Amino acid sequence: MTIEDKIPAKIKRLPELAQNLWWSWTPNARELWRRLDYPLWRETEHNPVKLLQIVSSESLEAAAADGAFRRLYDRVMIEMDKAMSADSSWFAETYPDLANDTIAYFSFEFGIHNTLPIYSGGLGILSGDHTKEGSDLGLPLVCVGFMYPQGYFRQRVPAHGWQEAVYQHLDFGDAPIQPLHDENGDTVFISVKIGDEIVSAKVWSVKVGRTKLYLLDTDVENNSPWNRELTSRLYYGGGDMRIKQEMLLGIGGVKLLRSLGYQPAVWHMNEGHSAFLLLELLREKVLSGTPFAEAKKEVAAHTVFTTHTPVPAGHDAFAPHMMERFFWGWWDQLGISRDEFMKLGERKQDWGMAFNMTALPLRLSGFANGVSKLHGAVSRDMWKDVYSGIDNADDVPISSVTNGVHVPTWVAGEMWALFDKYIGPDWVARQDDPLIWQRIADIPDQELWRAHEILKSKLMSFLQNKERRRWVNGQHDPTQLMVGGMLLDRDALTIGFARRFATYKRAALIFKDLDRLKRIVLDINRPVQILFAGKAHPADDPGKHVIQEVYNYAKSNQLGGRIAFLEDYDMHAARYMKQGVDVWLNNPRRPREASGTSGMKAAMNGVPNLSILDGWWVEGYNGQNGWPIGENRDYADTEQQDWDDANSMYDTLENEIVPLYYNRDRDGIPRGWMEVMKESIRSTTPEFSMRRMLKDYVENLYVPAMRGEGKLKVTE
Ligand SMILES: *Cc1c(COP(=O)(O)O)cnc(C)c1O
Repeated sequence: MTIEDKIPAKIKRLPELAQNLWWSWTPNARELWRRLDYPLWRETEHNPVKLLQIVSSESLEAAAADGAFRRLYDRVMIEMDKAMSADSSWFAETYPDLANDTIAYFSFEFGIHNTLPIYSGGLGILSGDHTKEGSDLGLPLVCVGFMYPQGYFRQRVPAHGWQEAVYQHLDFGDAPIQPLHDENGDTVFISVKIGDEIVSAKVWSVKVGRTKLYLLDTDVENNSPWNRELTSRLYYGGGDMRIKQEMLLGIGGVKLLRSLGYQPAVWHMNEGHSAFLLLELLREKVLSGTPFAEAKKEVAAHTVFTTHTPVPAGHDAFAPHMMERFFWGWWDQLGISRDEFMKLGERKQDWGMAFNMTALPLRLSGFANGVSKLHGAVSRDMWKDVYSGIDNADDVPISSVTNGVHVPTWVAGEMWALFDKYIGPDWVARQDDPLIWQRIADIPDQELWRAHEILKSKLMSFLQNKERRRWVNGQHDPTQLMVGGMLLDRDALTIGFARRFATYKRAALIFKDLDRLKRIVLDINRPVQILFAGKAHPADDPGKHVIQEVYNYAKSNQLGGRIAFLEDYDMHAARYMKQGVDVWLNNPRRPREASGTSGMKAAMNGVPNLSILDGWWVEGYNGQNGWPIGENRDYADTEQQDWDDANSMYDTLENEIVPLYYNRDRDGIPRGWMEVMKESIRSTTPEFSMRRMLKDYVENLYVPAMRGEGKLKVTE
């Protein structure tokens, strides 16, 4: 019996809803799944595709017979149909002449929902949020990425604290993906010549509202065993794996869109991983008779490149011999010499001359940007050598659009309800208008504090359930339950820190002066606790060392159970943490954090930031909506920087944060703290919404690119 057969006629569109990730950011749709079978909803960690497979026929019949459920169902279906129809969107109304164009968006990772674990961190979440807001605003967006059958790894941290990576084969039947079929009903494949092999990929289709996302998967029969592995895992494999993946994404992605009939007016490379698409676009033009120099101009006219990190290791670069091997013959097809070809991506690395996947798109795309104002400036300086003839970094043509986050995804239901009541029922539609957020002052302190307390308590239950399950499954010994947060105290000031454990993020900075930290966390009257979570890249041993360090502090009796480490951080845990802690901590080594987005998600839920003045926080901090760590300046001496930042953090905790949090009135409400919470919501929600970000992209990059206004920046 198929799922469709099992579903009663009155609610027969549930499978359609489950297959469109639109449900994940729509409160009524979430509520519908919850009501269908709450225990299973929790058990599946909010996976409606799986829920529909295992839910009993009795539950389905009962739901279909329940008038209240059916009314909600009907409402959700009307909402979904409205959200899917293209006519009345912001984009169609603002740019009616461009509504039939296509914006193609390429990314290595997409973090849309936990049921599709094809993301590792901020970059992926940003892409996912981009697809969702693209749907909300009605952008003509089509996205290309990879379907990784084993996704990103699941993290296990045994009692010794050294992270282990567990790979699980995703059950495709449980994921909101469908094989793509052509008009004859045949499965769509694409193939790309990579070196001297032909690599085929199957195409999966994902519905993110009205945004289409296509995912390439090389695990198909006619590929060699090593090529079948090409898309098996995210950021996996050394040797020539990465260059082959990037050829597949960039070149295969263009071929895919062409085969589906798309003629994108904008090609957006989200990070350099997909930048080989530029070479494919050039080749198309040259093969159809355009001279190379002219082809370069035409490609630049419609291409946008976004760089996401100032960390040098974050920019892929391939040795010349590798380029020779995989691109042999390309220069002839492009009508240029081998040297001219190599020059397109040339950049000196510390190990020698290489083909750099950031230099390539900086040279060939018409628009380039960083992801915060500071990151734009840092990037202009970092890459100015790519632009011959430009000496002054200020003249380097890399602009910036500060990142944002998808508000409906990250704002908790409890906050949503308060915003409905006090900001106005149309607050989602007007989310990027700073004026409506003035009304935040109307929310009574009691109600906001109550909502926060509920969210904090949900976080604690989430942690306890997770730990209990691990213990019962034999994955944890009892001491690990404590490390996992069993001892956390609902009444104590709770600081959250969660993100990838890249070393520049300095997760262990707060332990720098252990005695001072002990005094802060162990204070009997005003205790402080810190909840950590995050994965280190499986090949990043220094990052794993930092996890181990934090883990050992969490285990140590010196800190008395005030430190916890939550294993296997993902989007699901991220929501609980960012909505449920009291303060969100971020202490990267400035200026390495290009933007950072987790702090925005916390801030919108009334969780103020305590953060280094780096990335978005340089723009976001206004003196009243949270706290800075350190100064807005550069350091040459990193040891000095660590000490200064750590001391600044302790000072602020001791003198400002802890006293403010514990200063309660007769009703037990911290009135001064409420001011900071409200200011945090008011100042960040409109400004750091994905909606504001996408409108900036549309106005400053997409529309000019649609009109063909991109110019080559390097002309020699
Ligand atoms: C938002 C988010 C990130 C990004 O965190 P940063 O602090 O910006 O590095 C990483 N992982 C998950 C699961 C997220 O939701």
